[in-house]
Amino acid sequence: MAASCPDREPVGSELTQEIQPVRGMNDVLPAEIGAWQAVEGAARELLTAYGYQEIRIPVVERTELFKRAIGEYTDVVEKEMYTFADQGGDSLTLRPEATAGVMRALISNGMLRGQRHKLWCAGPMFRHERPQKGRYRQFHQIDVEAVGLPGPDVDAELIALTARLWRRLGIERVRLEINSLGTPEARRVYREKLVEYFRAHHERLDADSRRRLEGNPLRILDSKNPEMRELIEAAPVLTDHLDPQSREHFQALCASLEAIGIPFRINPRLVRGLDYYSRTVFEWITDALGAQDAVCSGGRYDGLIDQLGGESTPGIGFAMGIERLVALLTQSGPVESVAGPDVYIVVSGAQATAAGVALAERLRTELPNRRFELNLGGGNFKAQFRRADRSAAALALILGDDELARGVASLKPLRRETGQSESPLSNLAVAIEAVLAGSAGHM
Ligand code: ATP
Ligand code: MG
Repeated sequence: MAASCPDREPVGSELTQEIQPVRGMNDVLPAEIGAWQAVEGAARELLTAYGYQEIRIPVVERTELFKRAIGEYTDVVEKEMYTFADQGGDSLTLRPEATAGVMRALISNGMLRGQRHKLWCAGPMFRHERPQKGRYRQFHQIDVEAVGLPGPDVDAELIALTARLWRRLGIERVRLEINSLGTPEARRVYREKLVEYFRAHHERLDADSRRRLEGNPLRILDSKNPEMRELIEAAPVLTDHLDPQSREHFQALCASLEAIGIPFRINPRLVRGLDYYSRTVFEWITDALGAQDAVCSGGRYDGLIDQLGGESTPGIGFAMGIERLVALLTQSGPVESVAGPDVYIVVSGAQATAAGVALAERLRTELPNRRFELNLGGGNFKAQFRRADRSAAALALILGDDELARGVASLKPLRRETGQSESPLSNLAVAIEAVLAGSAGHM
């Protein structure tokens, strides 16, 4: 670069150090983009078909929002948030999840008032976790929220939507776990039983769990410490303490899932990492990605909007981790990105090269559904044909000075042996379509 750019000082590589990317924050390169687009495209299509509308919210929110929504004693708020003071001294946080922001948006824009909303959004989330395979500091979610619907019909439909998405993507190694957390009142009673139980076994609690015992004892059930497993297995089970309405809600959900034909397992210890859940919680997990096994998690949050100062409205939602879905999708091989061009335009000679850009632009206008790649940066015939071949184009259009002078171009199919032909420049669009139709028949 420096050599061909005489106005700039060459940059001495021994003087400047390469700037490193931020740990746990990745680039998604063109070679990997096919799988990302497959996941995002299938999700967008399906969500639209189910009547969900896209909403876009800021990546940064007031820190207070996440503290209030997610809960002070969660891992996310206690130790994973990217929080900073801006120039005006406000405490802001890079969003660690999307639900809080979407609910904030509904409240800020006066969109509640007894109305229903079926929404989705997608984008990067930020958590300061220990980076490892399937766990990053910037990761991406597709987030889906249904607000104003008490369920359990919407609970079942949302889960059915996710099951359909896995089928569309050809993802097989996932299974569904569900649980009910009941109402906050029922949970309060259960919580006391749980505290009593863990107090009686205080000496067996790890440091994290001791801390949680006071602030948020349910979270102890979510502990990933294997030494805690036995104690947790023997703890009282929330499902035994459900209030009658929550029990009914849960039974109706189970019946719907059975009627749809979605296999599930009731996991009474599924409590989820965020505090705002009530009643239905669910998680799709896989055995194909090692320790990072959750690909999609969600649940009902009937108290959240109220908790954020909005008019009390029930809601349910889930988020899926795009990196983990991409990892599942690419386990059986790379996913093709967008196809190559239909036509590669080879230009040779000074006049033809000069005329190339205008010709390509004209063809793009005349055949808007075809993809044209113009050879850029010159090169002899051999080099240009090598590029044409690598581009996977079906057809090369050849324009040399000689052809230009005669008002024609040559068309050479690249994926079959036969027939280079000539066409008048004025009739190129028709000729290209004819040859491409013939090529398609031969492929
Ligand atoms: P985990 O138990 O793996 O930490 P979580 O319960 O914290 O997940 P949620 O907050 O519910 O996850 O987020 C929903 C989904 O986002 C998860 O199921 C997972 O697929 C994905 N996810 C969460 N944290 C990360 C991360 N740090 N890196 C990549 N994906 C993530
Ligand atoms: Mg987590």
